[in-house]
Amino acid sequence: MTLEQRWNEVRHRVQAATQRSGRGADAVRILAVSKTKSVDEINAAIAAGATDLGENYVQEAADKITAIGHAVQWHMIGHVQRNKAAKAVALFDVIHSIDSVALALAVAHHAAAAGKPMRVLIEVNVGAETTKTGFAPAAVEALLANLAAAPGLQVVGLMTIPPAVADPSEARPYFAALRQLRDRLQASAPPNVPLKELSMGMTDDFEVAIEEGATIVRVGRAIFGERTPRKN
Ligand SMILES: *Cc1c(COP(=O)(O)O)cnc(C)c1O
Repeated sequence: MTLEQRWNEVRHRVQAATQRSGRGADAVRILAVSKTKSVDEINAAIAAGATDLGENYVQEAADKITAIGHAVQWHMIGHVQRNKAAKAVALFDVIHSIDSVALALAVAHHAAAAGKPMRVLIEVNVGAETTKTGFAPAAVEALLANLAAAPGLQVVGLMTIPPAVADPSEARPYFAALRQLRDRLQASAPPNVPLKELSMGMTDDFEVAIEEGATIVRVGRAIFGERTPRKN
């Protein structure tokens, strides 16, 4: 299959899941996750229709973003080291992986200094896995109250990576938990914290995530094919 065929197949599956869950046709955005992939492959995805690209490493993304530019939106979805916060703010349009207070404040600081308000999502560790970063669900409310006053940040939603499971349907409770957390927080969130976005679902489980309310699915392999391990 060509990249265009894979993109179209993903798009149709996203549409079908969106429809099946009774949501509006524009309810879900596909984030094409291009880590390890070349500028040529990314350009092929853009030609097929991709408008949003996801990258995991600031340095790897820098060269691609410089080459391709901002006719598309670039989303940072990997862990951001605090000393890369300024660079991440300069390069990306959205950061999905705010996983500590220190990082949130660093991003806010650099965004304010650069005069570039950053759209961010709070990464939530819904499976309470010790191997994963992200906030405990119970910690997010206080965090949002803290960040509401940070001038450089627009907290647009929540993101999660659920525990690895054998069958996609086993991820459903984690996706539902993120949606329920969002719904609960939305009721009390400050007016400048709309929390519209739920970034959840990847190649193996994006349809389940959509059924549970995902507004952004992060799809890599189903669009770009398998990845060879990243070279350092
Ligand atoms: C790599 C990655 C994805 C995409 O994973 P696929 O299984 O290739 O779809 C999504 N989200 C995050 C945070 C990732 O690191």
